[in-house]
Amino acid sequence: MENKWLVGVDIGGTTIKMAFLNQEGHLVAKWEIATNIKENGQHIPKEIAQSIDEKLVELNEVKDKLIGIGIGAPGPVDFATGSIEVAVNLGWTDFPLKELLEKESGLPVTVDNDANIAALGEMWTGAGEGSNDLIFVTLGTGVGGGVISNGKIVHGMNGAGGEIGHITSIIEGGARCNCGKNGCLETIASATGIVRLAVEELKRSNEASQLRDYYNENNTVTAKLVLDAAKENDDVAKRVMEFVTLHLGLALANLANGLNPEKIVIGGGVSKAGSTLLNPIKEQFSRFAFPKVLGAEITIATLGNDAGVIGGAWLAKTKLGTK
Ligand code: ZN
Repeated sequence: MENKWLVGVDIGGTTIKMAFLNQEGHLVAKWEIATNIKENGQHIPKEIAQSIDEKLVELNEVKDKLIGIGIGAPGPVDFATGSIEVAVNLGWTDFPLKELLEKESGLPVTVDNDANIAALGEMWTGAGEGSNDLIFVTLGTGVGGGVISNGKIVHGMNGAGGEIGHITSIIEGGARCNCGKNGCLETIASATGIVRLAVEELKRSNEASQLRDYYNENNTVTAKLVLDAAKENDDVAKRVMEFVTLHLGLALANLANGLNPEKIVIGGGVSKAGSTLLNPIKEQFSRFAFPKVLGAEITIATLGNDAGVIGGAWLAKTKLGTK
């Protein structure tokens, strides 16, 4: 048992990341395959199982070396069955992921959503290492999140716990969100939201900005350009990022007021801005956090794209590791 490995799998819309880890959380092997979305993504479980077998052969190991698979998928999970209720990018509706992958691989499988396994990864060996009470927020195309309380992911009654992106930030007149509501944090603090806000600022006046040329060229403004411009003291970009970090700081402070976390870890593409993003978030957090929760350490994620496979392996260790 001590020498056995864990399998972490993180399914994304374009690639499936996979890894073998030992039980101390060290990566033994890490690789990825393309996500085959043909025929409503039905080949995905078989292709994951085959890829695991091929990697075992390559490493001169046998199936018995593996404890089980912890897998994250981009959609809400039915925790009673390990099915994915819907994953638009993959073509899945009520897809019995656990059942199919167990059948194809011959290994026990445990399923959670992608943001939650990334939160577990950061908790195990990343920026949240050693912390049992942690809030993880990922700022990418959307805003995802995972809440860990007392060492466990908060799933809530319907598995929708930790959907930090859909905290309401703008009470009246907010932009439409993918979830059907208006004014969600995701409409402001995602890469898409940052671009939308920058374009609105540019449209409002003719104020000089290094973003204006990109806007005039068929609107090729990106979140990275806005973050870079803010760093270089561009007034338009600075106003956008002040608004973004105000709402991130407010949402995280209100979450902290309810959860009293030890650490708040910020990941995703937008978090690459580092201290330019982190310092104003910390300032706003201090404005809105209740004194007793001010001790929460706010930090940038350290595992990057590996967070999901590491968290998947942690899930396999804790859920399947007693066999
Ligand atoms: Zn929403």
